[in-house]
Amino acid sequence: RFSTAALTEELVIPPVQVNYTQLLINGKFVDSASGKTFPTFDPRTGEVIAHVAEGDAEDINRAVSAARKAFDEGPWPKMTAYERSRIMLRFADLVEKHSDELAALETWDNGKPYEQASQAELPMLARLFRYYAGWADKIHGLTVPADGPYHVQTLHEPIGVAGQIIPWNFPLLMFAWKVGPALACGNTIVLKTAEQTPLTALYVANLFHEAGLPPGVLNIISGFGPTAGAALASHMDVDKLAFTGSTETGKIVLGLAAKSNLKPVTLELGGKSPFIVCEDADIDKAVELAHFALFFNQGQCCCAGSRTYVHECVYDEFIEKSKARAMKRIVGDPFKKGVEQGPQIDTEQFEKVLRYIRSGIESNATLECGGGRLGSKGFFIQPTVFSNVQDDMLIAKDEIFGPVQSILKFKDLDEVIKRANTTRYGLAAGVFTKNVDTANTLSRALKAGTVWVNCFDVFDAAIPFGGYKMSGIGREKGIYSLHNYLQVKAVVTPLKKAAW
Ligand code: NAD
Repeated sequence: RFSTAALTEELVIPPVQVNYTQLLINGKFVDSASGKTFPTFDPRTGEVIAHVAEGDAEDINRAVSAARKAFDEGPWPKMTAYERSRIMLRFADLVEKHSDELAALETWDNGKPYEQASQAELPMLARLFRYYAGWADKIHGLTVPADGPYHVQTLHEPIGVAGQIIPWNFPLLMFAWKVGPALACGNTIVLKTAEQTPLTALYVANLFHEAGLPPGVLNIISGFGPTAGAALASHMDVDKLAFTGSTETGKIVLGLAAKSNLKPVTLELGGKSPFIVCEDADIDKAVELAHFALFFNQGQCCCAGSRTYVHECVYDEFIEKSKARAMKRIVGDPFKKGVEQGPQIDTEQFEKVLRYIRSGIESNATLECGGGRLGSKGFFIQPTVFSNVQDDMLIAKDEIFGPVQSILKFKDLDEVIKRANTTRYGLAAGVFTKNVDTANTLSRALKAGTVWVNCFDVFDAAIPFGGYKMSGIGREKGIYSLHNYLQVKAVVTPLKKAAW
């Protein structure tokens, strides 16, 4: 029923090889102190792509020392902001030059469709760095009109060494969301990649050095959470921590930061975002966008529209059309043309998604289509749609992080607002209506960091992103992200009587 057979035309894949597997510390690729390595896998087959140096606490120490030296002794924070911005712009040019290899490497390590990586994510990567390069020389303080004879000014200074921990679902974009604002503000960085997807960050970090980034400014450690990640979060010489991943791990790193040196922490965590389809919505458009909101990136998005609330008047039509759309979804080798959905990232996520599907069936939600693995190799899952989902079912409460759409029925606005907000998460929401009053009411009532009205997953470098409640702390992207990487210093100087 799911059409791998529909794949006729092969994409021309640029030859890609894995050139960088070591840790990047102080501008050099080096082995881990322990000499250990770990495998990274191709999710299409489960086969090993490469063995990568496995960093742990000792390597984090080495990387933090390099970042500290690059911060304290320069040249990075002491360069002019214009020079910093030019390096970031040169980097963006190099990303464009190498975009085909980078997209192929991202697909190989992560399993996302090559067309998505090359047509959406790589252009976005360059765009994000150009956006942040634009900020570098526009960061400045204020003069403050205080009571009394004082000249008061604020200096916006870089915070110091930033520790950054990123997940595997958008390895390059998460790199950009973290590294872009930190560099624009003049910080130095130790970034730990996700153990599932270590390859592309090493590749782009090398491009950064080609662009002229001084050694020690950006250090990349591949490795595991409880060793390398925890060492970074609890390091006494790291001045700021930024994390994206699960809510559970977010709580751990927040605790480690508090127990060590009270470094400020920003967290980008999980979600269970409502997608609300009102009775007056354009149904065909809403079906397509609800499908996209959930299935995009194999369902592995923190902001996935994973609770589709549909008004009872249009519910039956919506279910039929959603089912038909899911059954047409093209699942297969992500390197092939036209493929919309590749494999899940690894065996752990694959098993977890299948467990949630079984739980949906056992709790008597109606399985409209899908419900199992696809093929016998790799981590492919059939696009799955459940209707008749109730709020108290696990599939309506937990973040599944897979291609499983849950459709729920509602009667009126007050009811759907209450139900949509009854969750520990608050990352995003979608609202579908032609009535501007309904759109305004819902946008203001929903407790979520982003509300998309008649659209979904619109990501722009300038639009802030982040969560209410247990979806996180702070905002990334846009002007708001700069606040995460700056200290504000007030400088107060008495004025002579003549000047007062
Ligand atoms: P995770 O939170 O375990 O991993 C995210 C990052 O944190 C990785 O780099 C990991 O190595 C690191 N990490 C793990 N344990 C750590 C620790 N004790 N100290 C410091 N760092 C640590 O997420 P996961 O296991 O890759 O995925 C599990 C779930 O997380 C998914 O099912 C999904 O619900 C959620 N997730 C959310 C996002 C998001 O963008 N919000 C991204 C990926 C995964």
